This record gives sequence, structure tokens and C-alpha cells, in this order.
Amino acid sequence: MRSVLVTGGAGFLGSHLCERLLERGDNVICLDNFFTGRKENILHLMGNPRFELLRHDIVEPIVLEVDQIYNLACPASPVAYQYNPIKTIKTSTVGVVNILGLAKRCKARVLHCSTSEVYGDPDVHPQREDYWGHVNPIGPRSCYDEGKRVAESLCVNYHHEHKLQVRIIRIFNTYGPRMDPDDGRVISNFITQALRGQPLTIYGDGMQTRSFCYCDDLIRGMMLMMEQDHEIGPVNIGNPGEYTMLQLAEEVLRAIPESRSTISHVPLPQDDPKQRCPDITKAKALLDWTPAIDLQAGLEKTVAYYRKELACK
Ligand code: NAD
Ligand code: UDP
Repeated sequence: MRSVLVTGGAGFLGSHLCERLLERGDNVICLDNFFTGRKENILHLMGNPRFELLRHDIVEPIVLEVDQIYNLACPASPVAYQYNPIKTIKTSTVGVVNILGLAKRCKARVLHCSTSEVYGDPDVHPQREDYWGHVNPIGPRSCYDEGKRVAESLCVNYHHEHKLQVRIIRIFNTYGPRMDPDDGRVISNFITQALRGQPLTIYGDGMQTRSFCYCDDLIRGMMLMMEQDHEIGPVNIGNPGEYTMLQLAEEVLRAIPESRSTISHVPLPQDDPKQRCPDITKAKALLDWTPAIDLQAGLEKTVAYYRKELACK
């Protein structure tokens, strides 16, 4: 039976991945330092004899025997990753060295989760994998963006120097159930604000764009990338449906018809990328992957989750 390590397994995406891997019959070791992860995300898996939980920080080395490693450990919300920027950099550098070293020792295949943030504030649109990006190396987002860029470099160099089997995906904004209601990302903010009758906080004029992928689609793409034998990547995984933040606010309010929330404009954070949309030609060709769930359907599922979540608080 296959043994799979999921770092960041108690987080939003990690918890969905652990679930899918258990369904497939794998042994799953979920490793997390619980910085942004939550026990509630994985509580329902705890009784499964093939599931194991380790509280550990990837910045410290660890010795385990595994066949595959999905490396998701890293805060993803700008609020969370800017809370302790040096720690964020360590997670994507020292932490990734530790994970690649572990993989090298036990000859495991690694899938590393990179991000569309490596493209920075892109001047090429939509973004293809061969675009090098436009990142401010000393701005407030650099601890995440540059950390993830170093991590990609580490992955390809471990592959070239040590023949390590690595896979890199660049994840574009992904949402769905189990996103921490307080994590500060736009979809969790807008939905919780709409459900609480608070104004939806649009940063800046709201004309900046993002492309939102539902979590189930993303996890499917991630697992397909791990299983294919031909390409280390990077490969973009995201939904090309592109929305301005004003349009997103409208969609959220449409999904919560009883909401009386208005819209309020607050200052735009420094270096906030103006546009973001994946070119997924490579994922389509290599993995035969396209997202199946559009924003409206995904918001419906996500709103249902937050209704329950907020009712419990
Ligand atoms: P998340 O914050 O919910 O999950 C990250 C998990 O990693 C948390 O459980 C956190 O406690 C854990 N973690 C953080 N630092 C750690 C460390 N040093 N050691 C051990 N565990 C640590 O975020 P998410 O949205 O689930 O993102 C998962 C991965 O996907 C991240 O690597 C992120 O960069 C990447 N990603 C996500 C998105 C998205 O839109 N969700 C977009 C691009 C990339
Ligand atoms: N944003 C917003 N209101 C919020 C939170 C975010 O308008 O309450 C905007 C933010 O300025 C950015 C976009 O939504 O342009 C996506 O932000 P998020 O933090 O979700 O992810 P990012 O893609 O910036 O990492």
C-alpha cells in the first residue's frame, strides 16, 4: 500500500487532498504546524486507521519513510504570510530543502505547490508557464513570491543534480469549503461579510481581476500531475474564468439573496496584482485536465459551508 505525506495537510487544500488520497486507498501522513491549519478540517479523518497526524514544522528536518510527498505547507493568504515574513521565507526555502532531502533519502516523488504569485503583477496576460514574471523583490508580498520562486528553483535543481522525481504546479486562486472564514482572502471575506450583513470590502476600485478555481477541480489536477510520468512542470492549474473584484462581489451577493450588505471601498494594498488569469493549454494537453465547476456553482457550495460554519460560532 502506498504511503503518502501531505505537508500542510490540516489546511484548506491539504485537508481535501488527504480525503481524496484516503478514498483512493493510500496511507496518509498529514503533517502540519497548525499556523493556518485547523483540527476541524481533518477531524472527520482521525478515526481512519490509514490516517496519521503529525504536528511538525517543515523548517525542522524530519525522518519518515514515504512513497510520495505533496508539499503544501506554507500560508497562502496575504494576511497570514505577511504576519511573519521571515518565517514564510524559511518555510519556502529551508522547509523545501528539508522536504526535498527527505524525498531524496527515501526516493519518493514530490509534488510541490507553487503559485501564480511567481508571475507577480504580470505584464503578460493570460499567464503562460514560460513567462518569467514581474515581482517586486523587496515589497510586502516578496516573502511569499520570492520564497516560492526559490522553491521552484530548488525543485528543478534537485531533479537535475540528484535525479529526484519532482512535479511543480502553479496554483491560481482557489476557494471552497474549509477556507478559514477569518483568513482574509477575498472569497472568504466577501461570503462571511455578506452572511453577517457587513459591507463587502473592495480593495481599491475593484477593477483588478482574479480567476477562481473550485477546490475539487484543483485537487483533481494536482493528483493527475503527481501520477503522470513525463513532465516536471511547472504546470498552471487554475480556472480561466476571470472576474473583477466588483463582479465577484456581485456574484457573492447573488449567491446570498437575503443579504442586505452594501459595498465599501478601502485602500488597495501595496503591489496588489492588477490582473491574473491562467493559460491552461499545458494542463489540458499533458493531464487532459480542465476545470468542471464554474464560479456560480462553486460559490453555491462554498456559501452552504459558511452558513453552517458561522451558525456554529
Ligand atoms: P492554508 O493556509 O489553508 O494551508 C497551508 C497549511 O500549511 C496550513 O495548514 C498551515 O498550518 C501549514 N503550514 C504553514 N507553514 C508550515 C510549516 N512551516 N510547517 C508545517 N506546516 C505549515 O492554505 P491553502 O490555500 O490550503 O494553500 C496550500 C498550498 O497551496 C500553499 O503552499 C499555497 O502556497 C498553495 N497555493 C494556494 C492557493 C490558493 O488559492 N488556495 C494559490 C496558490 C498556491
Ligand atoms: N480583495 C478585496 N477585498 C478583500 C480581500 C481581497 O478586494 O476583502 C482583493 C485583493 O486586493 C486582491 C483580490 O481581492 O486584488 C484577491 O485577494 P486575495 O487576498 O484573495 O488573493 P491574492 O490573489 O491577492 O493573493
